[in-house]
Amino acid sequence: FTTAFVLYIYRHPVSRSKMMSSESATPPAERLQSLSAVGASVQIKKDISPIKYFRSGIQMEKVARAYAKEGDLERAYKILHRFITLFIEKLPKHPLYKKAEASRMKEYSKKIHGALDLASDIKQRLSDQYATEYQSFLERQKRNEIAKLAEAQSKLEECKDYNLKSVTMDPVTDDSQSALMVIEEQHPEDSMSDYCKPKQNYESSSSIDSSNYILEQRKPSVDRSLKPATNINEIVSPTLDGLRCVKIPERLPEYFLAVVQKNTASNIETCGILSGHLMKEVFQVTHVIIPKQHGTADSCTTEEEEEIFDYQDSRDLVTLGWIHTHPSQTSFLSSVDLHTQYSYQIMMPEAIAIVCAPRYNQTGYFTLTRDDGLDIIGNCKEVGFHPHPSHPILFEECKHICLDSTHEVQLVDLRST
Ligand SMILES: [Zn+2]
Ligand SMILES: [Zn+2]
Repeated sequence: FTTAFVLYIYRHPVSRSKMMSSESATPPAERLQSLSAVGASVQIKKDISPIKYFRSGIQMEKVARAYAKEGDLERAYKILHRFITLFIEKLPKHPLYKKAEASRMKEYSKKIHGALDLASDIKQRLSDQYATEYQSFLERQKRNEIAKLAEAQSKLEECKDYNLKSVTMDPVTDDSQSALMVIEEQHPEDSMSDYCKPKQNYESSSSIDSSNYILEQRKPSVDRSLKPATNINEIVSPTLDGLRCVKIPERLPEYFLAVVQKNTASNIETCGILSGHLMKEVFQVTHVIIPKQHGTADSCTTEEEEEIFDYQDSRDLVTLGWIHTHPSQTSFLSSVDLHTQYSYQIMMPEAIAIVCAPRYNQTGYFTLTRDDGLDIIGNCKEVGFHPHPSHPILFEECKHICLDSTHEVQLVDLRST
């Protein structure tokens, strides 16, 4: 019976309870509050018409339903909360709110009521889920405390035996010393020295001194079973930077450039709307809708936007961003582009801007930076081309996209209809 062997036995005094994934150390009200915080910063821009907000609202509701269907209630609740903040609190303050086309607004309002019911249903389900998860955390914590007390008690008992045996044991050999060091490396998280140290007179032996040094240098023990459980939604929903991945058919820019070639050759910009749907936890771009529009060398303005919305609505598509050409410039987002991107991204955080610059053989996939870009553009009251501060950075290359060679894209050219 060597010292090392005695120590080894002490390493496994009580088996730890297994961590369950369906629990949380955060109180339910706090968790709901953190989901709601996202929507509060949404700004209403007067250059985006109330009708356009309503159309986006209907798409937000569609996305929320898709999330709920996948079981991702938190994401569904976040988007619905943003939606409610926009439509109940902020949109009525829009200067054009009362002038908006009454019949359309009435039609959209009806659809939006469904979203309110959905939000309250999801809130209730989340509240129940959080309460259960918090309760099971509290119960396990209580069980852990009881187990710890029992563990301390049993170690004290074993210490008595250990010190008794130490007195009658042979001096520690070099072999047992190295065995001890190996055990230390294998079980760095376990602690026994707090409970059981050799008696003072035994520590004066040089070999035991060095073993004690190893014990004291170790990091404090951590009870990993107390770590807050990972949220189950994060396990089932792969995200990048908290965003769902947007899958883009890799030849989409090439096809788009081919269809709008005539404009590009005349140095006229063309834009299209990226559309698709939530499919197996990613947003898949399936269509590019090219609306009626008029363009210049550095801008393009859509017309008859109702057609885009009707096309999307009849096929259950949602807007996932936009694409446009820079016939004679490089690929970047101009000040006007930044404001356009804001209007997409505020409704759908995953929305992206693709900029094709064929003269420079460049294709950029951009998004506003989530802190500075969204905040600065959201608060900027300027219209048309205007300077923005060069720092901080307002837009960046998207990290949440992946180019996909397995899906084709359909180009829908509404210009000729
Ligand atoms: Zn541009
Ligand atoms: Zn601006």
